[in-house]
Amino acid sequence: MVDLQGQYAKIKDVVDASMEEVMNSAAFINGPKVHQFQKNLEDYLGVKHVIPCANGTDALQIAMMGLGLKPGDEVITVDFTFAATVEVIALLQLTPVLVDVDPVTFNIDVAAIEKAITPKTKAIVPVHLFGLAADMDAIMHLAKAHNLYIIEDNAQGIGSGYTHKDGTKTKTGAIGHVASTSFFPSKNLGCYGDGGAIFTNDDDLAHTIRGIVNHGMYKRYHHDVVGVNSRLDSIQAAVLDAKLPHLDTYNNARRNAARKYNDAFKNHPNITTPSGLTNCDSICDTCDCHVFHQYTLNLKGVDRDALVAHLQEKNIPCGVYYPIPLHKQKAYTDTRYNEDDFTITNQLVTSVISLPMHTELDDEQIECITSTVLDFINSNS
Ligand SMILES: *Cc1c(COP(=O)(O)O)cnc(C)c1O
Repeated sequence: MVDLQGQYAKIKDVVDASMEEVMNSAAFINGPKVHQFQKNLEDYLGVKHVIPCANGTDALQIAMMGLGLKPGDEVITVDFTFAATVEVIALLQLTPVLVDVDPVTFNIDVAAIEKAITPKTKAIVPVHLFGLAADMDAIMHLAKAHNLYIIEDNAQGIGSGYTHKDGTKTKTGAIGHVASTSFFPSKNLGCYGDGGAIFTNDDDLAHTIRGIVNHGMYKRYHHDVVGVNSRLDSIQAAVLDAKLPHLDTYNNARRNAARKYNDAFKNHPNITTPSGLTNCDSICDTCDCHVFHQYTLNLKGVDRDALVAHLQEKNIPCGVYYPIPLHKQKAYTDTRYNEDDFTITNQLVTSVISLPMHTELDDEQIECITSTVLDFINSNS
């Protein structure tokens, strides 16, 4: 699904030099590289504060701790996402409230959020799923009207831009009250191990969070709040700082691969290609709409699992993100859920398939993947 070796080979010199700096300085924890990467990412995103941490799941948890959410507070998020999003809500003894997604964008359905708001609702966690920004203007509007916090789960969306209704642009992760991201190796900006970060434009919240990631310490050995130990290693920061200047190029490569996939599948009666490229139909290097963490087709009248098996047989990697709605996972079932409220997610888990998507895909690979998919669908639907 990804080609991290091919990507590394092209930037080996800078990555190795950056890592060597850390090794030579032996500043493995909170070294200057961490600070340097933090500053560079703040500039790139146009956000006031980046607080690095150990992984994307911690980032979400720490964001919620920083906001002071209390047991019993309800947090609305999506049924169709990676489990980390709902996991930390439950772990903090907050009440997760899962809602359905939009059938076209696969992102949180704003009407469903509105329906789920109660007097106990304190926050909404939109996920920029597969690299496409959620409907942030509408979500921020709801937040304002109901006095709710917005925590963007930007683990799949780093580098993506969001165009507001007035035409201005903001990077995802710089819109809500706070945001989280992951630097897991296969993410769009990945390190060579685990890593994550929290973003916010709020000075007070940033201060609170900087203490939480470091055992609740604001002054050495003074623990004012219950915190955690969640750090980005200097070595990982060195990798990330070497890769950050390439992020836009990487995301362009993903978008251009997505365009080629779209061309191959367009107008096929059994295939819906991803939304999100509609405003830029030609190759452009300035566009930052969809960053294609995943390239996901929605199939109709096709046995998706048979296609998965067929691709596996042909040694073509593919994935199903996600095969089970979160509200049907043992850990997250809740008697108050009603199946009628999850019709889109219940459908998508049976009909989506994600194809290889990374920075090193070439035309020959794309042609091989698309022709294998099309041959199967044309002879089995
Ligand atoms: C990857 C991911 C996370 C978790 O990130 P880790 O660094 O693996 O902890 C959270 N949310 C979403 C949507 C993700 O894709």
